[in-house]
Amino acid sequence: MKTFFGVLWDFLVLLITWPILLIRALCNKPDKKDFAVVEEPEIDVDTIAQHLSEAVQIPTVSMVEEFVDNKQAFYDLHAWLEKTYPEIHKVAEKNVINGFSLCYYIKGTDPSLKPGIFLSHQDVVPAPADGWDYPPFSGKITEDGFIYGRGSQDMKSHMICLLEAIEKKLKEGGSYKRDIYLCFGHDEEPGTSFEGAKYICQFLQNRGIKAEFVIDEGGAVVDGRMLGVPHSLALIGATEKGNGDLELKVERFGGHASNPKPPTADAVLGKAIYKLEKSPMPSKWTNLTKVTAKELAKNCGGSALGGVFKFALTNRDVLPHLVKFVFTLASPMTNALVRTTFATTMLWGAKARNVIPGEARANINYRMLTTDCYEDVEKHIKKKLGPEVQVTSIANSPSSPEADVTAQAYKNLEKSIYESFDDIVVAPYMFIAASDARFYYPLTNDIFRFDPFLYDLEDQRRIHGINERCSKDNLRRGTKFFIVCLENMCN
Ligand SMILES: [Zn+2]
Repeated sequence: MKTFFGVLWDFLVLLITWPILLIRALCNKPDKKDFAVVEEPEIDVDTIAQHLSEAVQIPTVSMVEEFVDNKQAFYDLHAWLEKTYPEIHKVAEKNVINGFSLCYYIKGTDPSLKPGIFLSHQDVVPAPADGWDYPPFSGKITEDGFIYGRGSQDMKSHMICLLEAIEKKLKEGGSYKRDIYLCFGHDEEPGTSFEGAKYICQFLQNRGIKAEFVIDEGGAVVDGRMLGVPHSLALIGATEKGNGDLELKVERFGGHASNPKPPTADAVLGKAIYKLEKSPMPSKWTNLTKVTAKELAKNCGGSALGGVFKFALTNRDVLPHLVKFVFTLASPMTNALVRTTFATTMLWGAKARNVIPGEARANINYRMLTTDCYEDVEKHIKKKLGPEVQVTSIANSPSSPEADVTAQAYKNLEKSIYESFDDIVVAPYMFIAASDARFYYPLTNDIFRFDPFLYDLEDQRRIHGINERCSKDNLRRGTKFFIVCLENMCN
């Protein structure tokens, strides 16, 4: 109801003030950027593609459930890294943390500078072979320039481009002023990182490290047109949503399927799940999402959609409810930026086909805005579903602090993107998934998530799906980005 009146109020404001709002939008021009794209560095993209292919062929599936004994793959990856990046292994102090995670320390020449930390995870999700054009751990390199296989996007390509950039620098006799830590966890994918990132961060804390910045996966270069920006759009994750699971449980009279007495536990639970979908958490503007809207507003245009977005985002401060409403409807991604979301991921009922279960359960995976906490989520669900549905917390990881996007580290990262990519706009945003980065806050608040690859929607669907692949073009872009980024941020 509150939302309805908010939208109605904004609509009335719009009716009265639209000429002023239109002028505001028309005057909202992009900032002048003084960055020039740097020349293409000399890199051998075929060799990098071969390296990615070899890394993909090592099936480092996270060691959980039926893969709990998949230790050898991680040992093989460690050995392969040592063979493939000899200069790094010559110079760096290598630490194996908690058996499988890696932390390389490359000493810089200026001890007065705080270290820079670059993250990556070694593990990948499982990949049943069904539906793949090439076996998922074949690392097949195709004629049209793609490397296929699990991990080729998430995230061995990121790790390899980073290592290629450093290896090249060291091979040429170069060095970095800032100390560099390369931290490669081994259990990011199951969503815990309790064995990898957590231990690595503890190791760094024990060394008394305070970092200048941390860079991890998350965020990418996307086609800006879907948000009304007629350029490529580089999104830097400057925080990440909290996440967790809770269980809904309904207990009713069960029994033989031949004489059902409605409503059954399944029916009550089903109704509750449907109700939850129809009753989302309230939408909100966080400080960071306001910055995202401001940056996009300056750069929208060039089409009817671009015009609408420009008008709406420029006037977000005047029409906050209406613009939130547009975000809610525009796409699942924009909806996830303005509210805590719920997804029903697992269901349990009877164990036999002819049994009415005495209890039905559902797992709800939630992703929390930085302004919400678990108590808000639980309160909302209990209020909407009533006492018949029991709500139990299974796991909860709070959202991360928002990084300072006026800090030098952010400015240097932004500059690196402008210098690496043509025709691009950079904006910070709230990363809606989870990454290892959330464990590194004891070391710094300046934690940014960015993958230097250009992905369309089809590519994005391949991550964790079938036919995951990375193009040679993306490997070229990614390696160039890390060369530029390391110069700007560590020299
Ligand atoms: Zn990942």
